[in-house]
Amino acid sequence: MTAPVHDLLLRRVWFDGRHVDIGCSSGVIAEIAATGTVAMHGVWEPDVNDELVLAAPVEMHAHLDKANTADLFEATAGDLGAAIQTWAKAYDDRTIEEMTRRGRAAVVRMVDAGYQRIRTHVDCGPGIELRAVEALLAVRESLVGIIDIEVCAMAAAPLDQQALAYLDSALALGVDVVGGYPHVETDVRAATAVLLERAAGVGLPVDLHVDETLDPSVTGLADLCELAAGFPHRITASHCCALGMVDVAEQRDVAAAVADADITVVALPLTNLYLQSRNERTAAPRGVAPVVTLREAGARVVAGSDNLQDPFHALGRADPFETAAMMVTVAHVDPPIAWAMVAADARAAMGLDPVTATVGSPADFLVVPAPSVRAAIADAPAARTVIHAGRVASRTTTATSRAADLDDIASA
Ligand SMILES: [Zn+2]
Repeated sequence: MTAPVHDLLLRRVWFDGRHVDIGCSSGVIAEIAATGTVAMHGVWEPDVNDELVLAAPVEMHAHLDKANTADLFEATAGDLGAAIQTWAKAYDDRTIEEMTRRGRAAVVRMVDAGYQRIRTHVDCGPGIELRAVEALLAVRESLVGIIDIEVCAMAAAPLDQQALAYLDSALALGVDVVGGYPHVETDVRAATAVLLERAAGVGLPVDLHVDETLDPSVTGLADLCELAAGFPHRITASHCCALGMVDVAEQRDVAAAVADADITVVALPLTNLYLQSRNERTAAPRGVAPVVTLREAGARVVAGSDNLQDPFHALGRADPFETAAMMVTVAHVDPPIAWAMVAADARAAMGLDPVTATVGSPADFLVVPAPSVRAAIADAPAARTVIHAGRVASRTTTATSRAADLDDIASA
């Protein structure tokens, strides 16, 4: 009997603690067995000897309309309000063409980094009108079949009739998620309710920038938990910084409500660390959602990279290992949990099937030369093999050349 020929064969890889050969066909794991015990062949057999197979990560919170614009602006060292002003002042310079080009380049970079799906927020409202929405919808369409992109239209503030009219127009163009940032409104609860109503009216999920402030009197997350009752679609609360500024008893009460309401919280350490508490010279708060308290309450907490080299964060690599590393260092979760926050848990939050070491699992992997998840997060290897639906979407290899005397030492 001849061995089956799979679309893709990963030989001698580490997956879920086992050393295995994995045959993938029709987008799923068709065969998996201890290395060398079963004859398998593949049309495509990339050299991934002894590398680590991870579930493909997803990015739950990006801003592709702003990606890679840091050098267009004078160096800024302001807070969130200053970043919003800097960005909005340059709305007239933003064209559909350049936002499409930058957005597409950022997505390619993110595929190379390992991401399988991206949710991007996008500005819409006075000044930018619908240009950013049109650009990101064009990015989404041009990458169908390569990577799934969800576009979340961010209603402008103040959330008046004009802002809502732009949001309605964005919804009519075919965005996937309703967004906004009600924490800057005079009446946070009322604005949150309006956005939920809008989403329910068009049958879409919501993903709001919630309490992106260190003012503990801003309690939009608690409002959102109450308003969530009866809302028929997924709710995501991004940022939730203010909850980290209240005492643990209050954190626990809200965390329990978040879990009850089945709201996904997205922690966004990079931008929060960059923009929050800039005026504090002593014991500056980290500005990140209280991840440990939320997890203890059973809430789903995932992590995202947020801004990519723009006025809201001058740095950022759009790399799942960078985001996971932040969760380890800043939010004090163990490395496997940090990885789940950008992979398994984030996949679940986006409605994707889990990736497991079993026949029938989606063949959506990130394969890296690392001995453990911890080491992968620490080293963030540049060398990666990105597999979407059993197909190699991207493969990066690296080569280091050394002087002979240094090479002797390195290989000793
Ligand atoms: Zn954001």
